[in-house]
Amino acid sequence: MIEMGRLLRIRLRLRRFMRRHHLVFTILRSLMIFSAGFGGAYGFIKASMAEKSGYNPHTFAIGASFLFALACVGLATLSMRLRFLAKKLHKVALHNEVLADRNWELQEAEQRARNLFEQQGDLIVMRASNGAIVFVNDAYCEMAGLDRENLLGSQFAFELIEQGDSALEPSGTRVHDQCIDSAIGPRWIAWREALVRADAGQPAVLQCVGRDVTGRTETERALADARDQANAANRAKSRFLAMASHEIRTPLNGILGMSGLLLETPLTPEQTTYAKAVRTSGEALMSLINELLDYSKIEAGKLALEAQPFSLTALIEEITELMAPRAQGKQLEMAAYLDERLPTWVTGDAARLRQVLLNLAGNAIKFTASGGVALIAEPGIWPNEISFQVRDTGIGIAADAQERIFREFEQADDSVARSFGGTGLGLAISDRIVKRMGGRISLQSRLGSGSTFEVSVPLPAALERGEQNSFRGPDLTGQSIMLVAPAGLQAELIERRLQNWGAQTCLVAETEVAEVLLPERAWHAVLIDDAIGSDAARSLGEAARHHTTRLIVLVTPASRHEQNPAAPFHFYLVKPLRAASLATRVGFEVDGAAMALADESLPTIAPPIAAQAGAGLSILVAEDNDINALLMRSLLTKLGHHADIAVHGEAALDSWHAARSAGAPYDLILMDVQMPRLDGIAATRRIRAHEASEPGRRTPILALTANALVEDRYACFEAGMDGFLVKPIDRDKLEEALANLAAARQVAA
Ligand code: ADP
Repeated sequence: MIEMGRLLRIRLRLRRFMRRHHLVFTILRSLMIFSAGFGGAYGFIKASMAEKSGYNPHTFAIGASFLFALACVGLATLSMRLRFLAKKLHKVALHNEVLADRNWELQEAEQRARNLFEQQGDLIVMRASNGAIVFVNDAYCEMAGLDRENLLGSQFAFELIEQGDSALEPSGTRVHDQCIDSAIGPRWIAWREALVRADAGQPAVLQCVGRDVTGRTETERALADARDQANAANRAKSRFLAMASHEIRTPLNGILGMSGLLLETPLTPEQTTYAKAVRTSGEALMSLINELLDYSKIEAGKLALEAQPFSLTALIEEITELMAPRAQGKQLEMAAYLDERLPTWVTGDAARLRQVLLNLAGNAIKFTASGGVALIAEPGIWPNEISFQVRDTGIGIAADAQERIFREFEQADDSVARSFGGTGLGLAISDRIVKRMGGRISLQSRLGSGSTFEVSVPLPAALERGEQNSFRGPDLTGQSIMLVAPAGLQAELIERRLQNWGAQTCLVAETEVAEVLLPERAWHAVLIDDAIGSDAARSLGEAARHHTTRLIVLVTPASRHEQNPAAPFHFYLVKPLRAASLATRVGFEVDGAAMALADESLPTIAPPIAAQAGAGLSILVAEDNDINALLMRSLLTKLGHHADIAVHGEAALDSWHAARSAGAPYDLILMDVQMPRLDGIAATRRIRAHEASEPGRRTPILALTANALVEDRYACFEAGMDGFLVKPIDRDKLEEALANLAAARQVAA
């Protein structure tokens, strides 16, 4: 192989040498042919003419004819070779022609490409490594205001007015925006710059393609300005709404409080009706203002969600208990069920979740005439997700309205809405809150047969709660429990819970059947729902007394006060049932002492401070609004306390100082936040500063605020207040706040 390669190389070199020194080679060849021909002929003639040659004309003739034949063969070979060369030449000529055509086409294509580049709307410029322009297109020349000849070879660059963002693509292309001062004024250009190699062996050139995006950039800027303006307007709107709602709340506070007080005075039935109408309208207005405030807050993107651990059980039970009186007022059942697989403590925004569920439960009660409403919490389909279902047996929602009602100010059926009232904002707000929480609301409903709203939100278990984080029901395996209750959602949920704890349950709706079943076995517990009728419940209770040691009656809060559940029952539980109360009542070991009548199902509210102290408290009320001040004084007097009024912060400070130096300090200050001269926050700060510098008892201060915004509440706590009361304030709220304060003091003591 190597040998052949060497031979080939030698031949190639020889050929190249022949091509280069063509003339020398031709002369050399002619000389060689001539000398061979001449030498041959001469030798032949000379030899034939020599004396001793033995000339023979025959042999001569043969030799001559051989030479002639040789010459003829040479001539024929030459002629053939000539023809072969002529053919080859022809082929080469043809090939040449094709090449010439191709060349021409290439030139044309290049010209076209060049024209295309030159006439591009985008600016195109190529620069050598020293920055000199090697190519520019028409658009660039036009933008620069210079001829191509002037630009080529120069280092021309536009004057920069503003440099925008710059980014490097993975391909190595640099992309950036520039505002340049061009011949036609300032323009925004979006550049793409990359190094390209035009010819092999040549240094790379920088190819820059710029698109004029002035229109787009200006539109974007205008849009951004418009958005900022709209945001500012929106913020202004929500500020205005917050202000307006605050301003409206203050007089409303008066209307609601005064009508409440009015209703407690002796009135004729007609006057009672009117006063109630005033209070109901006031309440409707208040909920409307709250909704508007919430909506504006969400609109302004100011809805900040908290992530705090809260008790799921407490949330569900609180909602059910809050809604129960309304449901019971309409003769509706209200039941709750919390799946025991759920953690009891979860992390999330309890207040917002409560708001959503209260809205759904409120709607469920509003749109249900008979049957009941159930609130069920179960694990959702995703890990950490909890699904809350609010079921009702109400009027239902038509398929075509199901999507619409989640939009603002939309109601399923205007005529129905008119008879039920409402603004159509509740679901829109709930939907937005749930979406902000990363969850979703879905709805299943059939016209005439009720609706189920399902809220699924991610609520991770509050791990820091550790051990406490699961509710363990009692072990009722093998125990028989009878539940006598009208068939419905509530009975079903109680049965489900008892079964979860391992009990064998027997749900009976009729007393006769229950009576027959009672002697059948020893019952671990018998639960009788008061809803079957008080008398029926009592007589069944009498019969059941001999068959169980845990005879429990289920009552509504209203009927608890009406009758004495002691006879013949051992215990009573208030509907809607709390899981923990049910667990204690059916799960604990029975001994004599525990047979006492007790109620675990309502939170034990500490008696008001007055009751503990045995005398009224001396309370300072700092309130600038006359009507509200009057209202507070009346409420406090009714609760057995003594109230002094201060009309602004400074007056409050003076009264506080005076009482303290007289040795009779106030037990409590109720401080309005917005007041002339010195506002509630500043007054509180001063009081706290004074207290810090002097020994003595710390005066509890509760804020009175019509503002429901979270920031305001933080401000109150920061200033050193102990709590706050949201206006409008009614007797129950005030009583509860005072009780909480007393409880806190007891703990502290
Ligand atoms: P509002 O109740 O103040 O009118 P919502 O946004 O809460 O506003 O509800 C919008 C509409 O959806 C209601 O007007 C009603 O037509 C319909 N709706 C909501 N919940 C229910 C329900 N549980 N049953 C029947 N209709 C309902």
